[in-house]
Amino acid sequence: MSALTARPHTDALTARELYRFFRAGEEETLALRGVSLSVARGETVAVIGPSGAGKSTLLSCLAGLDEPSGGEVRVDGVRVSHRPETERARLRARHIGVLLQSRNLLHHLSVRDNVRLAQSAVPGRPASSAEELLDRVGLRERRYALPRQLSGGELARAGLAVALANAPAVLLADEPTGELDGGTERRVLELLRERAADGCAVLIVTHSPAAVRVADRVITLDDGRATEAAEAGAPIPGTHGPEVRHAPG
Ligand code: ADP
Ligand code: MG
Repeated sequence: MSALTARPHTDALTARELYRFFRAGEEETLALRGVSLSVARGETVAVIGPSGAGKSTLLSCLAGLDEPSGGEVRVDGVRVSHRPETERARLRARHIGVLLQSRNLLHHLSVRDNVRLAQSAVPGRPASSAEELLDRVGLRERRYALPRQLSGGELARAGLAVALANAPAVLLADEPTGELDGGTERRVLELLRERAADGCAVLIVTHSPAAVRVADRVITLDDGRATEAAEAGAPIPGTHGPEVRHAPG
């Protein structure tokens, strides 16, 4: 899909009143307490917040990797939440690119075969070949390398190529530039912006000021609740954001 055919005001990703309750033995945690958000095609949204705020839990629920205890997630209007695992996996393979902190690469496969494996999860011919995708992230020369033979920056870009394997409508990334040097971080952020310009809805969990700067909107998660700065370029919430969109209660 090109930037011309993308509809910038269509929400590709919506979450309504997400709750996620965990019980581990005696311990009970309400990791998400009614989180609502939406990301339009062509938009990049950054999610920030302290450790334990619920960021990774939110991303897993948005990706259909985890089921929210309440609320719902929709991708291009299709409900992803509250479905059997196999159906969620099918929807995810087709519509959602996910880049997790644990990385999304299988150790025994080359970079190229990792991309091909992701593509094999969706019937039909992929929009771009594995080679084209690896070209796009600057890894063509490294396509036969195993993940352990890659540097941190190369790993991040290989993970991105896998996340983009099926030209997803939605790209979700947890700390995509966490361990990268400045130059590599810029390159990865550029790639994310390119995907957004191509009509993808991009949501990144990040601590990086550089990643926050490239975002159109910033959502702060704290203790399972989301607040959002009123407009792009507004001061990063946590100091004194101007306005709150998802006021609790
Ligand atoms: P963040 O990514 O913002 O650091 P997480 O989403 O990982 O936060 O965690 C939010 C809260 O939910 C934390 O209190 C964490 O301990 C808890 N939590 C996350 N996953 C689980 C789980 N599988 N079982 C129990 N508690 C969990
Ligand atoms: Mg996390």
